[in-house]
Amino acid sequence: MPGGGGRGRLHTYPCPASHHPLRQIRRAVRSSTGEGCDVSPRFDLLAVGDILAWGVRAMSFAEVAVNSTAPHRRTFTYSLPNGLSVAVGQAVYVPFGSRTLQGVVLEVTEEPRFAETRDVIAAIDGRPLLSPERAAIARWISDHYLAPLFDCVSLMLPPGFRRKPLTLLRPLVSREDIAALELTPRQRQVLEGLADRREVEMEELHQETGLRGLGALIEQLAGRGLIERIYELGPPKVRAKVVPHVRLLVGPEDARAEAARDLLGVAPAGGRPVRVRREPMAAALNALAEEGPLVPLAKLRAQTRIGEAGLRVLVERGLVAVEDVEVERDPLAALDVSPRQAPLLTPAQEAAYREIAAALGGKDGEGPPVFLLYGVTGSGKTEVYLQALEKTVALGRRAIVLVPEISLTPQTVRRFAERFRGQVAVMHSGLSLGEQFDQWRRIRDGHYAVVIGARSAIFAPQPDLGLIVMDEEHEWTYKQQEPAPRYHARAVAEKLAELTGAALVLGSATPDLESYHRATAGRYRLLTLPERVQAADGDGSRPCIVRPLPEVEVVDLRQELKAGNRSIFSRSLERAVADALAGGEQVILFLNRRGAASFVQCRDCGHVPTCSACAVSLTYHATEERLICHHCHRSRRVPERCPQCQSPRIRFLGIGTEKVEEEASRTFPGARLLRWDRDVTRRRGSHERILMRFLAHEADILIGTQMIAKGLDMPAVTLVGVISADVGLNLPDYRSGERTFQLLEQVAGRAGRGPRGGRVIIQTYTPHHYAIEAAARHDYAAFYEHEVSLRRRLGYPPFGRLARLVFAHTNATHAQEQALRMAAALRRECDVRGIPNLDVLGPAPALVPRVRGRYRWQITLRGGDPAELLRELSFPQGWTVDIDPVSLL
Ligand code: ADP
Ligand code: ZN
Ligand code: ZN
Repeated sequence: MPGGGGRGRLHTYPCPASHHPLRQIRRAVRSSTGEGCDVSPRFDLLAVGDILAWGVRAMSFAEVAVNSTAPHRRTFTYSLPNGLSVAVGQAVYVPFGSRTLQGVVLEVTEEPRFAETRDVIAAIDGRPLLSPERAAIARWISDHYLAPLFDCVSLMLPPGFRRKPLTLLRPLVSREDIAALELTPRQRQVLEGLADRREVEMEELHQETGLRGLGALIEQLAGRGLIERIYELGPPKVRAKVVPHVRLLVGPEDARAEAARDLLGVAPAGGRPVRVRREPMAAALNALAEEGPLVPLAKLRAQTRIGEAGLRVLVERGLVAVEDVEVERDPLAALDVSPRQAPLLTPAQEAAYREIAAALGGKDGEGPPVFLLYGVTGSGKTEVYLQALEKTVALGRRAIVLVPEISLTPQTVRRFAERFRGQVAVMHSGLSLGEQFDQWRRIRDGHYAVVIGARSAIFAPQPDLGLIVMDEEHEWTYKQQEPAPRYHARAVAEKLAELTGAALVLGSATPDLESYHRATAGRYRLLTLPERVQAADGDGSRPCIVRPLPEVEVVDLRQELKAGNRSIFSRSLERAVADALAGGEQVILFLNRRGAASFVQCRDCGHVPTCSACAVSLTYHATEERLICHHCHRSRRVPERCPQCQSPRIRFLGIGTEKVEEEASRTFPGARLLRWDRDVTRRRGSHERILMRFLAHEADILIGTQMIAKGLDMPAVTLVGVISADVGLNLPDYRSGERTFQLLEQVAGRAGRGPRGGRVIIQTYTPHHYAIEAAARHDYAAFYEHEVSLRRRLGYPPFGRLARLVFAHTNATHAQEQALRMAAALRRECDVRGIPNLDVLGPAPALVPRVRGRYRWQITLRGGDPAELLRELSFPQGWTVDIDPVSLL
C-alpha cells in the first residue's frame, strides 16, 4: 500500500461542510497548483534541476485519488520521482498494493503527509483533466455527500476514462503435473480450469468455476509457485475516432499533369510489376487536385472507384499518402436551426437582465452573487437567460445551462441553438459513448459558448466559466439518486460558481422553498418577473403583450359525490372539456400518479390520517391491514369510521393515467386521445414525437403525469384539468405540500399561452388545503408563508438538515434486524459524542418496501448536521446514505 493514513485525512483540506468558508478552498487550490507549480505538459520529462532553472519551485509529493475498488473517501500520498512533475487534475498511474491503478492528482505538496511513500509511476495524459476548481469540487462532494472520492472525481473525467483493474492468471504447471500434485479438491478445480491456457482473467475464471473464495485459493496456489498473477487495466472503453484520409503530396497542377500521363499503370522502378486500371487512379488524382489536399478515403473510393491496388501505386509513386485523421462524432450535426433575433425586453426583464449583466463584469474578490429569478410561468425567464448568455459571450467567457430533463425540453434546447448557432453543445445520456467522449474534449478545448444539459452537465469541463443558469431550479431531477455520489446539482453549481467567479442564475416559477428562504435571508439576490408575456409578432421586434395567468376553479369532489356523480370527471370539468372540444381547442388532463403509495381518505370530509410525529400521511399496507408511518414506523389499524366526521365512507384511493384514458374515451367518444407517461415513453425520442403530434394538433386531449408539467409551450391548450390533486398531496413525505403546489402551478402554466386564454380546473377532496388554495390563486407568497412555518415547527429543511439511510436485503428478517441495529448504534453514537439537536427517526419500511426482491428499511436523521454523525462511521454493504435527500419516499 502507498503511504497510509487514517480517518480525518480529508480534513486537512478545508472543508466547507464543517463551517470553513469556501474562500479558503479557493486559496488552498491556488497555493496547491499554485503560480509556483508548472502545469504545462511540456515540462513532464524535464529533470528537477531544469525545472528549478526555469524558476519554478519543485513540488515533490502528490495527493492522489485512486481508482481502487474499495470506496475510499480520501487521497493517498505519492512521491514524484526525479524528472516527473505533475499538476493538480492530472491523471497518473500509481502503484496500489500489488497493482497499477489510475489516479488523479488532487494536490501537489512539498512535504509528504506520511514518511513512507511510493513513487507515481507515470502521467497518463500530458495535460490536466480537471481544473483546480473541479479538483476542489470533487473533494467537496465526497466530503459533503459521504461518497467515494474517485467516484466524485469521475463525474468530471472524460467519459469512458475509468478502466477496470484486471487480474490475469497464468498456469505455471502443465495438465500432466497437476495429477501428481497434492491439492485440495477446490485448488485442483482452479488449476484444472487454467490448465493448457495461456492466461485467464480472474473474473472469467470465477464465472466458469462458480467457486466461492476464489481469491484465497489463488493466493494459496500463487504462494506455492503454481500460478502467476499479472495485473493489468482493462482496455479503454472509448478512443478518439480516426478515419483514414488520402493526402495529396504534390500540388494540384502536378497532380493533374500526372493524371494526364500514361505512366500510371506502369510499375515504378524497382517496384513489382502492376496491372492496375489507369482511369480510377487518374480520377482520384483529379478529385484530390479539385477538393484536396485531404479527402476521406471512403469518399474518394465512392467518387472514383479507386481500389486498394490503385492507391498503392499512387503511394509508391510518392503522389499521395494515407493517414488517419481524428474526426468528431457530432450529435447536433443533424439539428438544423435557423438564426433568431433577440426580442426587445420588457421593463421587468430588462431590470433583471441589468442586475445579472452587472455581476458578469464582476469585481474580483467578492465573488458574484447567486440570483434567484422568480418569474411566473411564461414570464420570459428564458429570454433573460439568453441575453445574459450573450453578454457572457461578449465578455469572452462561457456558460453552462442546466435543464431538468433534456428529453423533455426539446423546445428550450432549440431556442438556445437558434440564438447561438454552432456554439452549443448538448449533453444527454442518449449520446453514444463516442459522441460523449468527443464532446467532452471539444468542450474542454473551448469550442462551445454554451453547454446545455441535465444535472451532470454541471461537470462539463467548460473553461472560462462566466455564467451558470439553472432553469426550473425546484425540480427534483437535479438531485442524483442512484448511484452515489448523491449530489444536488444546485449545491454543486453554487460551489463551482464561487470557485470560478461565475455568476449563477436559478430560475423558477415555483422556487424551491429552500431557495426562496435563502433569497429572503439575503443569501441569494431575488429578481422577479411578475407577469406573463407573449410575443406580439413573430420576430419579437415589437414590445410583447402581457397576458393574465389562467383562471383556476377548484372543484370539491365531496360535493360531486353527494350529488350522485361517481365519474372521475366532475360536472364542471366534463362541461369544460366538451366546450373546449367543440371550439376546436386542446385539453390537458393531468394526474400525478407517481409512487405506489396508497393512502386512506374520507370521501365525505376529505380527512387523511397522518402520523402525529412526522406530519406525513399514513400508508395502507394490505398484508398487515394497517396504516403505517414510513418515517417512524408507528402504525394503527384502518379506521372503520372517519375520526373527523364519523363517516363510514373512508377508503383507499389510487387511480392511474390509464384509467383516465379509458374514462375519457367513454365520456368524450369523438375526441382523439394521446397519453404521455413513463409507460408510453420508454423508447428514445418518443417524448419529442408525442409532443410534436400534440403541437401539430393530431390529438385533442393529452393525458399525462408530471412530465407534461415541464416547461412546454402549447399555445392551443385552453383547458387543463387536474383529475385529482390529492395524489401527490398525500404521499408520506414532508415535501408533499410543496411538491403539490409546484406541480399544480406548473401544470396550470400550460394553459392559456395562446390568444384564446385559458382556464384550469382542479379536482380535490381537500379544497381548503393551503397548497391547493395557494395554487388556485397563483399565490406563491401565501404558500411560502404557510409552508415555512410548518417546516420551522418540525425542524425540516431549511431549518434542519436530513439524511436518509436505506438498507436493502433479500431476507426480510435480516433487513429489519440490520436496520434496528443501525438505528440503535446511531442513537448511541449520538449520545456518546454529545451531538445536540439530532433526531434518529425509524427504522421503518421504505415506502416501496420491496424492490427487486430486496426488502428495504429506512432511517431518517433530522437535525443540525446529520452528516457530522455519519462521516466517521462505516456502513456495511447494503446500506445507501443520502445526504440532503429531496424526498423521504
Ligand atoms: P418562461 O421561460 O418564463 O416560461 P419564456 O421565455 O419561454 O418564458 O417566454 C414565454 C413566451 O413569451 C415565449 O414564447 C417567448 O418567446 C415570448 N417572449 C418572452 N419575452 C419576450 C419579449 N421580451 N418580447 C417578445 N416575446 C417574448
Ligand atoms: Zn371524514
Ligand atoms: Zn411518524
